Amino acid sequence: MKRTARGQDLVVNGPRLLQSLERLGRIGWNGEEAGITRLAFSDEDRQARRFFLDELAASGYACRIDAAGNIFGVRPGGAGEDAPVTMGSHLDTVRQAGAYDGAYGVLAGLEVLRTLDDLGIATRHPLAVANFVNEEGARFQPDMMGSMILSGALSLEEARTKRDDAGISVGEELDRGNYAGADRVFPGKYLELHVEQGPILEAEALQIGVVEGVQGIAWWQGFFLGQAAHAGCTPLALRKDALLGAADLALAVRALAEELGDGSVATMGRCAPEPDVINVVPGGARFTLDFRSYDPERFERGKILVEELVRSVAFRNGLEYRLEQVANALPVRFDPTLVALVEQSARERRYTYRRMRSGAGHDAQLLAPVCPAAMLFIPSVGGVSHTPKEYSTPEDLVRGANVLLSCALALAEPL
Ligand SMILES: [Zn+2]
Repeated sequence: MKRTARGQDLVVNGPRLLQSLERLGRIGWNGEEAGITRLAFSDEDRQARRFFLDELAASGYACRIDAAGNIFGVRPGGAGEDAPVTMGSHLDTVRQAGAYDGAYGVLAGLEVLRTLDDLGIATRHPLAVANFVNEEGARFQPDMMGSMILSGALSLEEARTKRDDAGISVGEELDRGNYAGADRVFPGKYLELHVEQGPILEAEALQIGVVEGVQGIAWWQGFFLGQAAHAGCTPLALRKDALLGAADLALAVRALAEELGDGSVATMGRCAPEPDVINVVPGGARFTLDFRSYDPERFERGKILVEELVRSVAFRNGLEYRLEQVANALPVRFDPTLVALVEQSARERRYTYRRMRSGAGHDAQLLAPVCPAAMLFIPSVGGVSHTPKEYSTPEDLVRGANVLLSCALALAEPL
């Protein structure tokens, strides 16, 4: 009997997927408290890449590595060498991370390829599973570096000049060992499966998030300059307190986000007074701002208003200021046909789902402008991520991979 190749009747090998996540999760693991650290280009990142390449080779997939170090494992299609339907995410992590952010999307993609092999299903178009370099940006900014270079949003030459806190450049790291290659692979279509990293799916007791788009993200580094002075001898009216300016700004950007509405958010994530002494009025304050909004018009208007706020808050507090924008990822809407496919695949499997937005940045948002792309989420227990407490249940992990299988098979077209 010829086996049916209708996607919704097929399931991945759940134990194999969970086992590969478990094995990868040992790389860079520093105990229960500290979790996993695999910063981009570090030795731990290299070990994770080695693990992935070994797994690809063991299953007989062609390993292609581009000049940015992005890795693609390709399963050939029957119709020649066209651009592969690509599933992917990233193997790097932030400091003290969990086992699922990024790793899940890569290993679920690998599991989809292996499942098709097990079932003897060939496809018209090639399929690929990708690992994108430095998605997290924890050591080298900008984040999502590998997919930025692939999509042309950042040149390799410029990326190579970026340095970490120790002064080491991306170029030096790319040249160390066999990190980069000379292959060129470009996805024909792109699917990214990821943990939600937020509380919505769990709160609504749903199994799959059908992601329609990603909000725009802008980052700034700023500095308020006032006058350091004696905390006992300087009357309040005569102070130029830089920390007070930063506090004023933290409240003002929050009020701005509320006013913009539609889920806009603004955060002062870092704030460091100088000289940072108990009895000295702070003469300086270093701060960062993170602003996000989903609607393109609101995003553009919000960025202008954030910069105006910094100027007006500085003036109000008698301070000078410096402000530099260091990230500007525009809001993205995923391909409507692919989004509908994800939704249909979840529905046909009788999984519960909803359409939603992504609050976090992902490689899929860099690929969306250059090829049809979409994302799907599974629930994060407690809504937490970027911590060793990050967790998704085995059942949800397998469900997400099953939906990915349906979508990938539909796009690659079973023969
Ligand atoms: Zn991620």
